[in-house]
Amino acid sequence: MRNESQGGDGGHLADVADESGQLASLAKLIAMTRATRRIVAFTGAGISTESGIPDYRGPGGVWERQAPPTLGDFRENVETRRQYWDHRRTVYPRMAATLPNAGHAALVALERDGRLAAVITQNIDGLHQKAGNHPSRVIELHGTSHIIRCLDCGDETPAGVIQGRLNRGEEVPACMLCGGPLRAATILFGESLPEDALRRAVAAARGCDLMLVVGSSLIVNPAARLPLLAKRAGSRLAIVNRTATPLDGLADVRVVGGAGEILSAVVA
Ligand code: NAD
Ligand code: ZN
Repeated sequence: MRNESQGGDGGHLADVADESGQLASLAKLIAMTRATRRIVAFTGAGISTESGIPDYRGPGGVWERQAPPTLGDFRENVETRRQYWDHRRTVYPRMAATLPNAGHAALVALERDGRLAAVITQNIDGLHQKAGNHPSRVIELHGTSHIIRCLDCGDETPAGVIQGRLNRGEEVPACMLCGGPLRAATILFGESLPEDALRRAVAAARGCDLMLVVGSSLIVNPAARLPLLAKRAGSRLAIVNRTATPLDGLADVRVVGGAGEILSAVVA
């Protein structure tokens, strides 16, 4: 939890007050979680920073920052595709080797306990499934980096297979079925969310007793509206994040700090 050192006694007292406020919030979150049977987690880039994957607001950028600005550009410009695949050749193996952290593990513990109905995630890293959440419970709003899709015929291939082709010297891999352009099955800025994922996410949000937001700035719409939807349907809302979010005022409890530490305490 927050442990910023401040100069002077006033700062120290503020720290102590802050710390006790945070402990009270954590205790409330623990009690709320224990009393709930249908939890839906809503996760953002912040749950994966402790695995070494930077969030948008953190330093160092994002894994797929080199992605082309528009699909049209990607489709029409072979040079754009060449740069994309050249970048991905080195970056994807690192992402594929990334391990889930204590935050992901805590959500698996909640699922094994029969209390986690779904994980709605904005992440494309696949770490919830890697940690052990059942794939059917993980709703990927922004797609996944682990599947490569043909932009023309929609055929899907595991990313590892395409990685093998890159490693064997292909510079701009094309679809084996139709020759169309390939790219990771993630959405770009301005693209609409996958319909099926959004439909399932809305249903999960409407059906939960506790919406547990972890590591999301809650400013990317329409995904950020899901916690609102849950709240309106009568669910409680908990937010675990390092920084403030626009929905903090609506939250029943808010714990400021690292997801791994806080969620570990919740399931301990
Ligand atoms: P964001 O970058 O907007 O916000 C992440 C939030 O997490 C921030 O508010 C930050 O303060 C908080 N945070 C960082 N580390 C934390 C920690 N250890 N514990 C608790 N909170 C922490 O991310 P977003 O709201 O998820 O949206 C950005 C978009 O970027 C998403 O669409 C997502 O698809 C994409 N993205 C994905 C990944 C990934 O797959 N791991 C990584 C970066 C970005
Ligand atoms: Zn194709």
